[in-house]
Amino acid sequence: KKIQIIWLIVLKNKQAVSLSLFELLSLCNMSDPWQECMDFCVEVTKRAGKVICEALQKDITVMQKSSPVDLVTETDQKVERLIISSIKEKYPTHSFIGEESVAAGAPSVLTDNPTWIIDPIDGTTNFVHRFPFVSVSIGFTVKKEIEFGIVYSCVEDKMYTARKGKGAFCNGDPIKVSGQEDISKSLVLTEMGFKEDPEHFKRMLANIRTILTIPVHGIRSPGSTAVNMCLVACGSADAYYHMGIHCWDMAGGAAVVSEAGGVIVDISGGPFDLMSRRLIVASSRAIAERIAKEITQFDV
Ligand SMILES: [Mg+2]
Repeated sequence: KKIQIIWLIVLKNKQAVSLSLFELLSLCNMSDPWQECMDFCVEVTKRAGKVICEALQKDITVMQKSSPVDLVTETDQKVERLIISSIKEKYPTHSFIGEESVAAGAPSVLTDNPTWIIDPIDGTTNFVHRFPFVSVSIGFTVKKEIEFGIVYSCVEDKMYTARKGKGAFCNGDPIKVSGQEDISKSLVLTEMGFKEDPEHFKRMLANIRTILTIPVHGIRSPGSTAVNMCLVACGSADAYYHMGIHCWDMAGGAAVVSEAGGVIVDISGGPFDLMSRRLIVASSRAIAERIAKEITQFDV
């Protein structure tokens, strides 16, 4: 319909205009100002994934961040610099929240400005051990709403993409959640990490026990929030819950799983907040609500 309108304008003005297919498609994209950003994001994410895969072939130097189990490598920092400098050059007025920039002292504040929320390596512990779920995750928000998300699981070479209102895709093929409504038939994802506070540690383990004894088919921990969300998005798992993560872990995957028909809620069962550090993702509202009811919340 847009193409017809553009041709009518051209014909009405009686101008001898010849448009290539590319120019025509560009004109169609004018109604979606963020599509160009998304296309650029896919390109940058591919480049970042290549750097990560090359680094996996070499020695990896590991450094500690907040605790002995919070790791960072030179590749995390190098990839974040590559992503931010590439985007900044093209979109100098946009804002950024990047995991390693925040670790270096930059603020983690979401504003109404177009904002790129970046995890250069989601799954750094996997990267260090060469456990093959390592992803680059980028979410893009405008007025605090997620417009698109890209998750590139680079060892698997799976590029997950989602533009608000336009569906979710893996390597260009449409993906959908399983639609499972019965928690006793579901595969649930969560992450098990060491927690300094013994009370938090106890609650995390108690939550796992509670979910297992519903019973569910099983619990898995792939080690990358972004990949976990995409596994729910493509129907390989039915739910994922986690407390203590950050906006850069969730932003890219949140777009993918929403556009794949999934449900995202807060751990309490209330509305999802990107800056809250916790979430439940599920193939159906019934499963999301059941998990919210079963698990005990703790602040991290
Ligand atoms: Mg990371």
